[in-house]
Amino acid sequence: MNDIPAISIKDVVKRYSGHGDEPGKLALEGVSFDVPQGGIFGLLGPNGAGKSTLINILAGLVRKTSGSASIWGFDIDHDMRNAKRAIGIVPQEIVFDPFFTPVEVLDNQAGLYGVPRAMRRSMELLRAVHLEDKANAYARTLSGGMKRRLLIAKALVHAPPVLVLDEPTAGVDVELRRQLWELVQEMNAEGVTVVLTTHYLEEAEELCDRIAIINHGKLIANKPTRELVEMAREKIVVLTLDREIDALPEHPAFLKCANVGERSIEVTFDRDRINAGEVLALLQGEGFAIVDVTTREPDLEDVFVSLTSAG
Ligand code: ADP
Ligand code: MG
Repeated sequence: MNDIPAISIKDVVKRYSGHGDEPGKLALEGVSFDVPQGGIFGLLGPNGAGKSTLINILAGLVRKTSGSASIWGFDIDHDMRNAKRAIGIVPQEIVFDPFFTPVEVLDNQAGLYGVPRAMRRSMELLRAVHLEDKANAYARTLSGGMKRRLLIAKALVHAPPVLVLDEPTAGVDVELRRQLWELVQEMNAEGVTVVLTTHYLEEAEELCDRIAIINHGKLIANKPTRELVEMAREKIVVLTLDREIDALPEHPAFLKCANVGERSIEVTFDRDRINAGEVLALLQGEGFAIVDVTTREPDLEDVFVSLTSAG
């Protein structure tokens, strides 16, 4: 145990091979970060950012071009056997043999990992993912949500300390997303370090205690979620005035000012330089009466937009 990182990634570069004269896609441009033990770590980035490439390198499915990575202290180049034992990976795609039952799927997987029969815990895992009553149903009769839960159980048969989920909720409905979030939190409460990739900001903000952001193959942030949200220096106030406004107000601390309705304007301001009260006073000073006010707290989306547009 001690405090080695659950996963450590150093200067990882991946260039996919090209065709003919075409150079291959540079999917990772030297990415380094550590995933601490015990938390829920989010690897957040838009489609094509390089998230799956990184996960597939850890899974041994994609060969990195350079750099190094270790899982629970085991280097994936020098000790892949132990590295693989320390991690369970839930792929984005659902693939099952439709003629196996959930309990058979888990027993087979345990066999692949050389888990002795006496130590197999297929039923316990099915209970953990709330599929106990489907233990003997054919996999093809399971709903999409049940299949995803079975994949999570399958990734856990060898009791790895680290569970990685690649886009667990991409394209799933709201209810199933909630169920999967709860399941992830339950696994984490049991002591499993969880890493999940997602392109949903809301998901990362809700679930993860730490978030790394990857964009175009580069790491652009890696911070506790709370600190990341606090990086949003902007605040937005929407004002409804008593009459139409001809010239939008200007002030050095305003980052943006826009008409959002006949008598409504939205002011984005630097919350370190001015506060909402001063924004109101400014408009009142220009002779407007304010009919309604709403403010918005900064969220991860604001940080994300400013980080990704700066890059
Ligand atoms: P993400 O999971 O963040 O959506 P990926 O890691 O799948 O991103 O893809 C990163 C980039 O690498 C994309 O531009 C993608 O088109 C490219 N890519 C992914 N897999 C391959 C492959 N097998 N061969 C060539 N290019 C690939
Ligand atoms: Mg992906």
